[in-house]
Amino acid sequence: MGEGERQRAGGRGSMLLCCVVEHDRGSVGEVGLELLSTGHRVASELGVTHEAIVIGPGAGDAVERFGAYGVDRAHIVEHAQLDSYAPDAYADSVAQLIAAHGPVAVLASGTEKGNEVLAHVAARTGLPMAANCTEVTPGDAGGDDAWTLTRMRWGGSLLEDARLEASTKLLTLAPHAFEPAQAAEAGDVEVAAFEPQLDEATSYTRVVAHEPSGGGVSLASAPVVVSGGRGVGSADGFDMLEQLAGLLGGAVGCSRVATNNGWRSHSDQVGQTGTKIAPQLYIACGISGATQHWVGCKDAKNILAINTDPEAPLVTRGNYAVVGNLHEILPAIVDEVRRRKTTA
Ligand SMILES: Cc1cc2nc3c(=O)[nH]c(=O)nc-3n(C[C@H](O)[C@H](O)[C@H](O)COP(=O)(O)OP(=O)(O)OC[C@H]3O[C@@H](n4cnc5c(N)ncnc54)[C@H](O)[C@@H]3O)c2cc1C
Repeated sequence: MGEGERQRAGGRGSMLLCCVVEHDRGSVGEVGLELLSTGHRVASELGVTHEAIVIGPGAGDAVERFGAYGVDRAHIVEHAQLDSYAPDAYADSVAQLIAAHGPVAVLASGTEKGNEVLAHVAARTGLPMAANCTEVTPGDAGGDDAWTLTRMRWGGSLLEDARLEASTKLLTLAPHAFEPAQAAEAGDVEVAAFEPQLDEATSYTRVVAHEPSGGGVSLASAPVVVSGGRGVGSADGFDMLEQLAGLLGGAVGCSRVATNNGWRSHSDQVGQTGTKIAPQLYIACGISGATQHWVGCKDAKNILAINTDPEAPLVTRGNYAVVGNLHEILPAIVDEVRRRKTTA
């Protein structure tokens, strides 16, 4: 559906802003709360209502916390073809809600799913989309005024100021670029069920199985990530990193060299073409800190680099560094953490 068609179908009189909130069977993660906080802030600045779009099984459970994030109304989107993630079917659903309600903007998280779904929505509606925004300043509520954005380019190594101009703006927010702050006053959320009209063909691409990739703590949300690169030397060399991550309640990550060498799976990779993380502590072992890796870990609150090279970028950019051989340093750290845990 083109933009002109959308305007005829929905008009822009309803004055609302929508956030497409990701959830896992009703559980909303940190990036979802960041999204709702920003949605609430922007909707308040515009003086429009703040609405959420929640798709798939468990959507009803997800909205229970939304009142604290200033959501006025939640659209619960359920359909047999939405029982597992299917980007075309998700995008069709969002496009139909845009046609029905004509929001001034639709925001989503800048995750793989969020970016994929909104890109499909942009293709269907002919609306422009800005991905991975780190700052959002709206224009007037009227809808057509340009918004001023800062967005990530080149995997986050470049920040670009941009203007987004459309009756319905589509944008995704870079994960961890915004604080998940609750609204000053919690309100009631009106719940509206929406059953989209979906074609069989929209489910050709869909998730058919989930395979857990490790010890249970996800790389994206782990408070501590112990990560290894070329310096680890082998797949077996990651045993010591696994032990430290286990002791600290964290996850294991890696550089692309480790995935290219077959030492770790791609789901463990941190960086531009891997996962972007923001743990409390990132322990980088034998990783130089090339730009493509740095953009994935730079939001960590603390970085400890263990490296033989005192000039390695992660050593000079990190908060803490131990210069030396990781095969000697890591066992010493593991022994010390274990000793403190048993004597605590
Ligand atoms: C388009 C594109 C996308 C990319 N995406 C990513 C990405 O998502 N993630 C990513 O990581 N990379 C990515 N890369 C690759 C990136 O450019 C680097 O090549 C890669 O990050 C380097 O990995 P590394 O730090 O493990 O290896 P190296 O750069 O070779 O560094 C190894 C480090 O280990 C240290 N070392 C060696 N032995 C020891 C030891 N015994 N003890 C302690 N330290 C030791 C060395 O001093 C060195 O600093 C991408 C590249 C391109 C072109």
